[in-house]
Amino acid sequence: MKHYQQYIDGAWTDSSSGATIDVINPATEDVIATVPKATREDVDRAVASAKRAFPEWNARSVKERAAYVEKILAGVEKNQERLAQIITAELGAPITFSRKAHLPQVLVETRTTLDELSRFPFEETLDDTLLIKEGIGVVACITPWNYPLNQIQRKLTPALLAGCTVIVKPASATPLTAVLYAQIIEEAGLPKGVFQLVTGSGSEAGNVLAGHPDVALISFTGSTEVGRGLYNQAAPTIKKLILELGGKSPLIYLKGGDLQRAVRQACNIVFDNQGQTCSALTRLIVPESEKNAVEEALLDYYKKKVHIGNPADPATTIGPMVSREQKERVLSYIELGKREGARLLIGGNDVDRKGYYVEPTVFVDVTNDMRIAREEIFGPVLCVLSYKTVEEAIAIANDSPFGLSGAVVGPAEDAKAVARRLRTGNVTVNFGKRNYRAPFGGYKESGLGRENGLYGLNDYLEIKALFL
Ligand code: NAP
Ligand code: MG
Repeated sequence: MKHYQQYIDGAWTDSSSGATIDVINPATEDVIATVPKATREDVDRAVASAKRAFPEWNARSVKERAAYVEKILAGVEKNQERLAQIITAELGAPITFSRKAHLPQVLVETRTTLDELSRFPFEETLDDTLLIKEGIGVVACITPWNYPLNQIQRKLTPALLAGCTVIVKPASATPLTAVLYAQIIEEAGLPKGVFQLVTGSGSEAGNVLAGHPDVALISFTGSTEVGRGLYNQAAPTIKKLILELGGKSPLIYLKGGDLQRAVRQACNIVFDNQGQTCSALTRLIVPESEKNAVEEALLDYYKKKVHIGNPADPATTIGPMVSREQKERVLSYIELGKREGARLLIGGNDVDRKGYYVEPTVFVDVTNDMRIAREEIFGPVLCVLSYKTVEEAIAIANDSPFGLSGAVVGPAEDAKAVARRLRTGNVTVNFGKRNYRAPFGGYKESGLGRENGLYGLNDYLEIKALFL
């Protein structure tokens, strides 16, 4: 059994208690490695080291800090295949998806943020006043398992560039990707304490880290429920919070748009990564008159594109859920959907093989008051809802506690007009291409703040006015 250590104060170390966490391959249910289960003492040591390292790091030029991030990026580039293999082993993402989605996204986002730096004014003048932007301090990054590398990158890159020192607490289900990333970061040669990795449970180490008085900012991606709790953790010492939380994102199809492609767009993002994507378009909202055509397109997609199997096999398009807990959660939502009166069009079952598999599932005749339409399932479950008028479609889309993403497919001007009215942080109009210079983040209970590009960088900075 392989054992990996955490990275604290410039050294690889075990937990002060010696306790460990098992890492499980969700396709085989085998324990593939162990990592330390961090204690309060470990977290205290990491925070103290980050605090010591901060003034010197924050005083360096942006150019120097960017040179380190360039080295990290080069290391990720060099280790792409190893990283993809680890993501597949501990998350269960099909290897093809790890290679073509998980890794390229990390590379393009890091590259884009680095390129955007030259456009960012770290100093500005306002009349005779000098405005200075500088790192906020020690940043706690608490990340989920669904994109185990990029969720860390999205926080680490801007935090380091801003002059912050960083402690990462990855999800317990996927610490191995974080360990390899930490090894790559170590090779870049950052000064001691600028980057640290603490592996451990969220409710223990994560909780201590988030509440630590010397942490200036909590940057969290994960569930809305845990995000809500972090507000309390932030209150006593008025920490800043960046929260990237859940979603229940709508895709509105308007008559006259490309229906086959709209169905593919929804299915791709709901089934890829087994639906464990925060921006998944899990509510497909279609005109009543198109219901039959939509159902045919869905059945056709399923027949052609769904290949459930071992994620290490390049022919597999659907792997297991990340954990037994996640599998049970998804199956219980599927049972709930049946009880609530939605009609099961596709899937809906456990898969008869070892591993945490669930069949990709489509419910039709869903209404927006059903819990399966309101709550985030975080699995491969698509809900199809119907509307009579476009006004009704917009109302359904916006009637959600979440507001992360959305999409509209239809005649160009109509689609853009509908997109303007959606209360979400981003909207894809007629398959528009994702732009990594643009901010990513949610309205309402989907979060606070934005990630990526210059907007993301801003959230890790304090601003000071010098009246000269
Ligand atoms: P989660 O349970 O909220 O966990 C996220 C992270 O927080 C993990 O590292 C977890 O550690 C830690 N954590 C748990 N309880 C904590 C506490 N009391 N204090 C401090 N840290 C704590 O979410 P998840 O189950 O990993 O991921 C699924 C959720 O993330 C979904 O709801 C999804 O929508 C959301 N998500 C959102 C985005 C976005 O960009 N908006 C992206 C990805 C995922 P442990 O792993 O040890 O529990
Ligand atoms: Mg959790």
